[in-house]
Amino acid sequence: MGPALLAATDDDNRIPSAEDEVLRVEPALQILCGKYSMRIKDIIDEAISVTQYEGPLVTAITRAVYKAVAELVKLKGQHPSEEAELESDEGNGKAFKLLVIKQLRDTLRTSLPAAIMQSLNKSMGVPVITEIAFEEMNDQTGGYAQERYIALNERYLRSIVARLVEKMIDSVYSSYNPGERVSGFAFMARMADGNSHEWSILHGSIDKTIARLASISLHELVHVLQHNQQEIAGRDTTEYRSYLDKYNGEFRKTVDDETNALSSTTSDRQWNLYLASPQEITAFAHEIALQVVRDYGYDQATTVEELSGLDARDIADAVNKKLSGRFSKPTTPKEVMVRKRYLKLVYQEIIRYIEHRLSSFKK
Ligand SMILES: [Zn+2]
Repeated sequence: MGPALLAATDDDNRIPSAEDEVLRVEPALQILCGKYSMRIKDIIDEAISVTQYEGPLVTAITRAVYKAVAELVKLKGQHPSEEAELESDEGNGKAFKLLVIKQLRDTLRTSLPAAIMQSLNKSMGVPVITEIAFEEMNDQTGGYAQERYIALNERYLRSIVARLVEKMIDSVYSSYNPGERVSGFAFMARMADGNSHEWSILHGSIDKTIARLASISLHELVHVLQHNQQEIAGRDTTEYRSYLDKYNGEFRKTVDDETNALSSTTSDRQWNLYLASPQEITAFAHEIALQVVRDYGYDQATTVEELSGLDARDIADAVNKKLSGRFSKPTTPKEVMVRKRYLKLVYQEIIRYIEHRLSSFKK
């Protein structure tokens, strides 16, 4: 953790050493790279702060999941042949398992995006998002935003369903004898109310996926807010730039060429262009800030003391990790600028989050 750079009770936000350097260098670099940085950057507000929405969002996602599990009770008595297979010692419960998977997936496919949208719009105080849905995408993509619509990778839905069903079926086989399994299953479903032992078993298998889904949703929310700002400014909402664009349109072409922008065939150059987009820098800075907030346990903090100890080194490490080391040793002024923007935005977002938490303590 290193030296405490942030005294939680101090409100002058002093950041010594490396981070002072970041802030001092920034204006000079903006002039140097002004041709690139003054355009879209001036329109999209980098002061967008969304990390504080994470707590309610995780709660909303979790609640939607246990509601869907509780609804599995409805399966009982509806499918005699599948239940007979589950109860029999020879059977492996496969048919029953498929039924559960189908119902859980059908429920969550609508209820999960609805819960995410409701939570984010409520946090914003304005319905900025008009629709959220799961879509098939390649593994490199978590989601995308178009105007006010957010798409999330369907594999998160599949992962949550697969893990829940696996845990439930395991528990039924290990805790209930033949003849009791269907009732045992229904009992587990009924007990999945958020505080029970049954729920803690299920939750433990999906909490990381829920956290990831929340991060991605917040990343895409940042894009929706950018689109709003572009629209207010009378700009094309599909305007999407990269600071590293060599000639006008290189990045655009890269994005248009790919069905989902990023895939396993994405080249190094394309990744650099993407991660040096002013829109993406802001969105990823929020993801990185959220990761630091979780790593420091700020999201769980109940006292002022627990909200201190922020270290510039850890911010740099988190940025390096998220970007797989890209821009960590910048060689051009533009790369230096990209690097500094990441550090600065992550730092600012964490400070905002801490301030938000501190003000909630005072209430
Ligand atoms: Zn993005």
